[in-house]
Amino acid sequence: MCSEFIDIEENLREIRYRMNEAAAKYRSGDDVIRLMAVTKTVAPEKVNHAVKLGVDLLGENRVQEYLSKKDAYDISAEVHIIGHLQTNKVKYIIGDVSMIQSVDSIRLAEEINRLAAKNGRIMNILCEVNIGGEESKNGIAPEMLDELLQRAAELENIRVRGLMTIPPPTGSDIFLAHMQELFLSVREKKLNGVSMDILSMGMTHDYAEAIKYGSNLVRIGTGLFGARNYN
Ligand SMILES: *Cc1c(COP(=O)(O)O)cnc(C)c1O
Repeated sequence: MCSEFIDIEENLREIRYRMNEAAAKYRSGDDVIRLMAVTKTVAPEKVNHAVKLGVDLLGENRVQEYLSKKDAYDISAEVHIIGHLQTNKVKYIIGDVSMIQSVDSIRLAEEINRLAAKNGRIMNILCEVNIGGEESKNGIAPEMLDELLQRAAELENIRVRGLMTIPPPTGSDIFLAHMQELFLSVREKKLNGVSMDILSMGMTHDYAEAIKYGSNLVRIGTGLFGARNYN
């Protein structure tokens, strides 16, 4: 077997070990924390190897790249969109993915709703929050979140399931803590039509810390597949 595949197996073992360790330390025994494999730039054969090893959730950043790879993917894994999504691209993925994690405007929510209705389905979404207020990042500002949630909740063919974030790469826990507070405060409001059961937070450099702060979906790319090669 090719050595790249052996690395994936070893990386996955290490990730599961550290996830379990963080969960045992910081979380209650019945919390389920999902692992997503982030596939950008990764060849479908490698992605499928991870799926064979038990990864059941894939994260896609770019619509174009996803479309070029999806036919080669093992269909047993679920697919979520996690990258910035232009409204004119929604039509290409609406029938294939089970969740869109990167919804940060009412315009995008409305377009997803319109096409989901046309496809006779209900699309799960997360609202992406720009918790660090970084200009370079997508995501809605925390103070605008309530309005987005309330308007999204009125759309019949989408279901808001929680929040997603990419915190600034500071190495400090403060943004993870803010995000947890925001998530819990929204959940407490029990907005009609909004279920806050998913907090998608944590990447290769901070997934153990993210679990400490309540994440139940970590998104890992390089830690699983190795450094990305953009060419
Ligand atoms: C690339 C990416 C990840 C994974 O990042 P790594 O540091 O490679 O683990 C997670 N989430 C999003 C939204 C990404 O774009």
